[in-house]
Amino acid sequence: MEQRKKRRKKKISKQALILRWIMILVLILLIFFGIKKIASAFSRVDESTAVTSASTLDTSQQTSDISVNTAADTTEDSMTESIIPEEDIDNAWAMFLVNNQNPLPDDYDKRISVKKVYSNGERDFEFDERAADYLIDMFEAAKKDGINLTVNSSYRTIEYQQYNFDRSVQQRVNNGMSYEEAVLDTEKEVAYPGKSEHNAGLSADIFSDEYVSFDDDGFKNTKAYAWLMENAADYGFILRYPEGKEAETGIIYEPWHYRFVGVYYAHKVQDSGLCLEEFFEENGWLDENGTAVKMTVE
Ligand SMILES: [Zn+2]
Repeated sequence: MEQRKKRRKKKISKQALILRWIMILVLILLIFFGIKKIASAFSRVDESTAVTSASTLDTSQQTSDISVNTAADTTEDSMTESIIPEEDIDNAWAMFLVNNQNPLPDDYDKRISVKKVYSNGERDFEFDERAADYLIDMFEAAKKDGINLTVNSSYRTIEYQQYNFDRSVQQRVNNGMSYEEAVLDTEKEVAYPGKSEHNAGLSADIFSDEYVSFDDDGFKNTKAYAWLMENAADYGFILRYPEGKEAETGIIYEPWHYRFVGVYYAHKVQDSGLCLEEFFEENGWLDENGTAVKMTVE
């Protein structure tokens, strides 16, 4: 009996030993794979943390670039389109150049829809429909500040521009100039058809009830001009032919001529202190002939 009991005990302990070994093996396996799994989970967390911090860096980089840009930066790397996607910029479509090197497409003036923005009682003045409300809002804001702005010219068809141009040439011929002389002389005052921003429906000649004159730059001494200088960019407008930029624009200083380029670019151009031609050049949007290779009109 004693012997049997002892044998049985021995048998149990042998089973227990095997069981123990199995448990140890399972434990070792568990620990091994467990650590591996945990380690890989950790490395994933690491990666995602890295991605997160990288994107945070990206965003902060972007933000700082943007603030640098708005803060009158005019260096090469201030190229806006590489920082903010064009589709996110308000009215980026309006940012194109119209001048002697960059005429409008032949039918552009007919393709756009125009909307009445102002009336002087005798005549209605129209603007590209997409930008019209900006002009209307600007006039209303000025009025609230006691400034009565007036539109003295805005959208003109290319046909009308042609009529204007031909009439000016004819007047000079009638006064004794040769045709060639008359054309050269007219060019100084009247833009060629299709080469005027007025044909694009994005420019307005703006004065106020206190002062109207295309013959001098006296408008610059008015309260209305000071108001425009301070507020026009908020409505997407820039003074297109600034004083001191005559060589770059090819046009005399016109304190009355304002061009819609969208709020974003209006601030960018104004803060840069550049005229539109220089701004395009600075951003690498012009070739060596002054022809726009980017931000071109469709
Ligand atoms: Zn004008």
